[in-house]
Amino acid sequence: MNFHSTPDTLTKLTQMGDATLFEPAGDAPQAEQKSGRYQSHSLAECITNVQTPLGAKPILKTMLTTACERNCYYCPFRAGRAKTNRVTIRPGDMAMAFDKLQRAGRVDGLFLSSGIIKGGVTTQDKLIDTVEIVRLKYGYRGYVHLKVMPGSEYDQLYRAMQLSDRVSVNLEAPTQARLDALAPKKDFEAELLRILQMAAQIRRNHPHERLARTVTQFVVGAVGDTDIELLSLTNNLHRQLGLQRAYFSAFHPIADTPLENVEAASDLRQHRLYQSSFLLRDYGWEVEDLPFNGSGNLPTRVDPKVAWAEEHLTHAPIDLTTADRLHLLRVPGIGPKSADAILRARRLGHLHDLSDLRKLGLANPGRAAPYILIGGRSPLVQQRLF
Ligand code: SF4
Repeated sequence: MNFHSTPDTLTKLTQMGDATLFEPAGDAPQAEQKSGRYQSHSLAECITNVQTPLGAKPILKTMLTTACERNCYYCPFRAGRAKTNRVTIRPGDMAMAFDKLQRAGRVDGLFLSSGIIKGGVTTQDKLIDTVEIVRLKYGYRGYVHLKVMPGSEYDQLYRAMQLSDRVSVNLEAPTQARLDALAPKKDFEAELLRILQMAAQIRRNHPHERLARTVTQFVVGAVGDTDIELLSLTNNLHRQLGLQRAYFSAFHPIADTPLENVEAASDLRQHRLYQSSFLLRDYGWEVEDLPFNGSGNLPTRVDPKVAWAEEHLTHAPIDLTTADRLHLLRVPGIGPKSADAILRARRLGHLHDLSDLRKLGLANPGRAAPYILIGGRSPLVQQRLF
């Protein structure tokens, strides 16, 4: 019985192909994007190299079903879209197929999503069932990233967070009004934001338990959303609800959907959003520090950190021998690791010129040079002297 079901499931996975093409799963989402377009059909398209906390791994990225009762305007799986090949895999069969691929060395990690059938709660039960079988029956201990369906309940979320390394609660848009234009059947507060709030509550209720980190995703640039909307919300989610990271997915139109004639958003905008979200999360920046234009968007032509430094540091450079960590992190080319290395080196008296920065691991000290002093002197002047 089992012998026959697994090949059939692998065939279904092949039919799904790159169904999760637009859903980032790991720590380096831009590297996950393939040049191909939805939808090709091969098993290889379900396997993506993903940067996980345990290193780069080939993971099975797929869905329990490509059928859906919702009608999100951007989505290839929306109800009523004739072009979509609807494929459904039962939890036990999915878990068995994953186990087979994992034991064969084809994958080491699972990203599991689903279209919604019979409501978010029923669908979430199937997702949880799948991971329970993967963990408990097949004993898999590696990386699992699980999607959380709109409207899922507290106990479901808690179980998903116990079983997984990462759970995604995709907000899709920064406000209800933007969401209405993207996904008219989704309720921003009651179905989505509430789940992120529950995840924070679960972490507070179980402080000593190993629980999945929480991430979210936004569809960027289809319905007039601005960078300041996206980054203000992301910043609040990081600080108030312990969000690990936000994924920003530049909108790409899909044929035979209501947004098929909307222009694709730029990948460079997506890149600037990632850069800015890291400044907010890891560099102690405030939203007001980011160089938004009058429309609430970031200039795409320049790195936001360089834009800030050009305005603030060109005439008031930061002295690396006296600045505190937060000020060091304002300098282009200096990240959290190199800021810590600079603080260590100067305590030991090992910081005298640009060449010392290279020894500390800065890949390109010249990038920092226009914005810094070392011991009260500009390294640019020092360079000119020698
Ligand atoms: S609920 Fe998910 S799968 Fe269904 S249409 Fe919306 S985005 Fe697509």
